[in-house]
Amino acid sequence: MKFVTAIRNEQHFIGLVKEDQVIDLSSLASIKNVDLPATLREAISLGDVFLGRTEKLVSMEEAVKHTYLLSDIKLLAPIPRPSKNVFCIGKNYRDHAIEMGSEADIPEDIMVFSKVPTSVIGHDEVIPSHSSITAQLDYEGELAIIIGKTGTGITKEDAMNHVFGYTIINDITARDLQQRHKQFLLGKSLNGTCPMGPWIVHHSAVPNPENLSIVTKVNGEVRQNGNTSDFIFDIPTMIEELSKGMTLEAGDIIATGTPAGVGKGMKPPVFLKVGDSIEITIEGIGTLRNEIVE
Ligand code: MG
Repeated sequence: MKFVTAIRNEQHFIGLVKEDQVIDLSSLASIKNVDLPATLREAISLGDVFLGRTEKLVSMEEAVKHTYLLSDIKLLAPIPRPSKNVFCIGKNYRDHAIEMGSEADIPEDIMVFSKVPTSVIGHDEVIPSHSSITAQLDYEGELAIIIGKTGTGITKEDAMNHVFGYTIINDITARDLQQRHKQFLLGKSLNGTCPMGPWIVHHSAVPNPENLSIVTKVNGEVRQNGNTSDFIFDIPTMIEELSKGMTLEAGDIIATGTPAGVGKGMKPPVFLKVGDSIEITIEGIGTLRNEIVE
């Protein structure tokens, strides 16, 4: 199951994607008096109840009348306004850690920073160049985990039971700000620098999230060509470490790090410019595409 948040005729809705179409769960729920939260984040927190209601809604006769072509709607980020910062795992691929410095940059413990909720945009939305603030805008293609079940002190053994599904995040980074300031927050949180989407794929459709190819293209040229099998810290470790004494809530998002091939790692470095189109494709998830505008 692939879930979207989208707009049609100025109405926000939660939808279920079937090939090139989307079934509008929100309007079906309202005509059939089925209790469905307004946002996908809240719906996810209902766990299996949400999946059950989705199945019931899409099997209804009226579903046909509430099914649209994906090309006729505007997608937003699946969680357009996370309830807290997006967690990001840094240097989680060996080759990327080395391209950012040297072997000494390979972390021994999980490295975590975050992006503020206002940085989130959806598939096909534009990324402002912020040219008066940064001259070093860079891309980072990443698999992102959507937490489905709230927990604290989650063990590795139990961690996958807390995952709702997966999406794609482009961890757009202003490298000069990242370097200038002691913490990464400013360099990672400019408006529009957390493209997310195009949808959330339920975990049942991604049986092996740690063996997915991940490819980032800039203007059609392959820049990153990695595989999540190269994670330094695996998904259960990320969840166990993040939830130690800090509650991970349903709807929380964890970007799992980026493989080698970022612009800063090129010799000489090549940063993003106005007009560049960045496309991240993750096997079994989809393609997230965004363009840089002035
Ligand atoms: Mg990153």
